[in-house]
Amino acid sequence: MATVKRESHLKLNPFGVAQAQLRRVAETFAIDDGLVRVLERCKKAVIVSVPTRMDDGSIRVFDGYRVQHNMARGPSKGGIRYHPDVTLDEVQALAMWMTWKCALTGIPFGGAKGGIACEPKAMSRGELERMTRRYASEIVREIGPQIDIPAPDVNTTGETMAWIFDTYSMNVGYPVLSVVTGKPLTIGGSLGREEATSRGALFTIREALKKLDRRFEDLTCVVQGFGNVGSFLAVFLHEHGSKVVGISDSTVALHNPKGIDIPAALAWKREHRTLRGLPGADEIDPAELLELECDVLAPCALEQVIDGDNAARIKASIICEGANGPVTPDADAILEDAGVLILPDILANAGGVVVSYFEWVQGLQEYFWKEHEVNERLDEIITRAFDETWQVSQARKLPMRVAAYGLAVQRVADATTTRGIYP
Ligand code: GLU
Repeated sequence: MATVKRESHLKLNPFGVAQAQLRRVAETFAIDDGLVRVLERCKKAVIVSVPTRMDDGSIRVFDGYRVQHNMARGPSKGGIRYHPDVTLDEVQALAMWMTWKCALTGIPFGGAKGGIACEPKAMSRGELERMTRRYASEIVREIGPQIDIPAPDVNTTGETMAWIFDTYSMNVGYPVLSVVTGKPLTIGGSLGREEATSRGALFTIREALKKLDRRFEDLTCVVQGFGNVGSFLAVFLHEHGSKVVGISDSTVALHNPKGIDIPAALAWKREHRTLRGLPGADEIDPAELLELECDVLAPCALEQVIDGDNAARIKASIICEGANGPVTPDADAILEDAGVLILPDILANAGGVVVSYFEWVQGLQEYFWKEHEVNERLDEIITRAFDETWQVSQARKLPMRVAAYGLAVQRVADATTTRGIYP
């Protein structure tokens, strides 16, 4: 049977991009060459085959990955992604970015990521559960509360984490709460975790507005992606009085220059599982969405959506990277010249892993916090990381991305030097 090979959303090799970013930062911050050689590689990469019985009785075998980039500062941490374009190189890049994210926010983790190349939207719940449980069994010796702690990422949810928690616990013979984060509240999840990534993004925008002497009430915003990150960010911006003029999901992009009714969009998406058909907004070409007239553009879906081709047409003055790696280095250079303020991924979307850290701590202590405690501690960490990044960026006249990566890479390099290279 002839199969049509779909085109990946990744035009550049994402691991190549991540390594190039590291080299630029290492040069700017004079980081030792030997350490750069350590940091540009991943500590461990595991590829597993994931045989899964489908509902029609047939067997399909998916490729699964778990990559641990670095553990100099603690056990590794990072999500699991289900997407047809998942490759080893993508997972390696995402794992490296997790290392920088944890270092920038000062939480005691290294970086990891996992993924399965599959089409989750075309799979039933039962198929997803069987695939997830087999994948979790295949990596059961690679993960654990003191080793490597998965969490949700693109197309995975609390339910996915519940299956991994259960599979791991059945394998070892007792419940291990802190083996994954992003769990449902009924099995040791943390209050505030679901909205945490978006809340963190909101805090970074708030801090940027303070520096620029601007107000939420005067902003027009475009949010690309309506999954966990994009949907809650759109809600928060709306609640803060900003006008959200453009939104999209994987099926449709919508525009209304007068502002979209975001609570209605959220309700529509929950009911119909798509934004298509939402009243009060016009369908536009998804490529046009990023180029709409607005103050804040928040790409909250996949990598490389702003590249050398469309960067010059971006009209926003602030880009808030809710996704990992949405802006390519080519685009960075163009946007830098145009004076666009980019709030980089490892800062802007770090809220998720910060509250994952809180969930891990709560699970280990079996003592759970109130929601306002979670949100206040998140605010403290994100605001501090923003201030430190802003300071370096101002003092050294560097873009926020280079400042953030610089701080993070230096911290991991220092940890490595302090520990020494084994043996
Ligand atoms: N997948 C999220 C990220 O990219 C969360 C990771 C986590 O909580 O461990 O940051």
